[in-house]
Amino acid sequence: MAATPQKPAAATPRRKVSRHRGEGQWAAGHFTPLNGNEQFKKDDDGLNVRTRIETIYSKRGFDSIDPNDLRGRMRWWGLYTQRKPGIDGGKTAILEPEELDDEYFMLRVRIDGGALTTRQLRVVGEISQEFARGTADITDRQNVQYHWIRIEDVPEIWNRLEGVGLSTTEACGDTPRVVIGSPVAGIAEDEIVDGTPAIEEINRRYIGSKEFSNLPRKFKTAISGSPLLDVAHEINDVAFVGVHHPEHGPGFDLWVGGGLSTNPKIGVRLGAWVPLDEVPDVWAGVIGIFRDYGYRRLRTRARLKFLVADWGAEKFRQVLEDEYLKRKLVDGPAPAQPLQRWRDHIGVHRQKDGRFYVGFAPRVGRVDGTTLTKIADLAEAHGSGRVRTTVEQKMIILDVEEGQVDSLVESLEALDLTAKPSPFRRGTMACTGIEYCKLAIVETKARGSQLIDELERRIPDFDEPITININGCPNACARIQVADIGLKGQLVLNDQGEQVEGFQVHLGGALGLEAGFGRKVRGLKVTSEELPDYVERVLKRFQAEREDGER
Ligand code: SF4
Repeated sequence: MAATPQKPAAATPRRKVSRHRGEGQWAAGHFTPLNGNEQFKKDDDGLNVRTRIETIYSKRGFDSIDPNDLRGRMRWWGLYTQRKPGIDGGKTAILEPEELDDEYFMLRVRIDGGALTTRQLRVVGEISQEFARGTADITDRQNVQYHWIRIEDVPEIWNRLEGVGLSTTEACGDTPRVVIGSPVAGIAEDEIVDGTPAIEEINRRYIGSKEFSNLPRKFKTAISGSPLLDVAHEINDVAFVGVHHPEHGPGFDLWVGGGLSTNPKIGVRLGAWVPLDEVPDVWAGVIGIFRDYGYRRLRTRARLKFLVADWGAEKFRQVLEDEYLKRKLVDGPAPAQPLQRWRDHIGVHRQKDGRFYVGFAPRVGRVDGTTLTKIADLAEAHGSGRVRTTVEQKMIILDVEEGQVDSLVESLEALDLTAKPSPFRRGTMACTGIEYCKLAIVETKARGSQLIDELERRIPDFDEPITININGCPNACARIQVADIGLKGQLVLNDQGEQVEGFQVHLGGALGLEAGFGRKVRGLKVTSEELPDYVERVLKRFQAEREDGER
């Protein structure tokens, strides 16, 4: 699960939008809460729930938790209740939240920039084994997610994470979420600029601060100075993308207003160039606009993308400059089209210091605590103790001497963590799905893993980059709209007319400078069981009929 899930639209009673009280923008004087979410945020800041977790809930247990904290403020610290086991997808839209709530939690650990030391990774692995029944998924926003967390254990988990400089602060909720960053920041030979100092400074100044702890909704940030455009910048609320300015040198091109889920939008360029040391201020200006002008009336219109769509890039830049920065930004160039189709850093690559990094592929982001500890062992034995997570649910070990590369690759293979994955293993992602997610309609992770196996067996000669993204519901946690093959989980009818798990198919989405949304293939729904047959047919037909350079 990478995004704050929204109840599927079909399950939400339709409300008539009346504009006479405005959109709930604070900057227009609309401070009266217009819905339950705005009310609970006004009643008490989400960050304040931590004290209650430490002093009351962890001591008195699950039943002592105030419902407004349970389904609201606990997100500010990365906690969501997980789905009660055994409830099928057909009940998701029918049952009340409390009927779906298990007594256990998902806990998201933010890993800004995807950067981990092996000391941190060991602690993440140990917590998984001790408190999370071994679970630890790598998300497509570089985080780690645990399941089966008991409220009683949360303070001790925080102790251990914070002891090594990690946290769950604002990992969910209407807050500035994890700042994703190039997983090869600071080491890639072709890097334009290393965004790490900006990521660290944003964290130091603003994460956990009440300045931005009550936003209209979540706020997603991406910063990458890699020419590979490796952080899905087009679908973040704000993104800083590395560019060379002809006069001023390396810096970042500023994008705002991207986002998926319902009404997906590709972010827009403001045409402004931002030097590294100004990124935190400009970031604060953009999120400040969101806090003050963002729409708070309806949750479904509360992302920054709706404001950007209404204002347009020119007005947004003007408000940013005049009201927030109090100065003009420098005009700047657009990023260049990346030369490589795969932008995930999988495989063996030379670093700028002459050593190597090795990117490898767990299956659909699924690892476990024991495996994470073994990865830490390998990173220490073969590298310098630095590991990164990617936005494709993959991982990278850094700083490997040339003579160590082969033995590292072999050792990873032995853990089923291949550095030479098939296009299917490499390009398939899956969200959390029905195993733990309360909004899910279908199973995703096991389905994705099985699909990889089937496609490797059936089309062993397929050699094109391909992305297959699997969601368990109409939300966008696995980015289905921007995949070559996007699969949106829903109930479908099988040949016998029975309702079974399946997917609505979207084809032809992409990120990069050709970014666009896949087309929903009208009426095309496949059952989960038929999925390998369907994808095989699409890919074989593509192999047979594609033209030169065709995706
Ligand atoms: Fe997100 Fe998947 Fe859960 Fe839907 S089922 S909310 S896409 S994690």
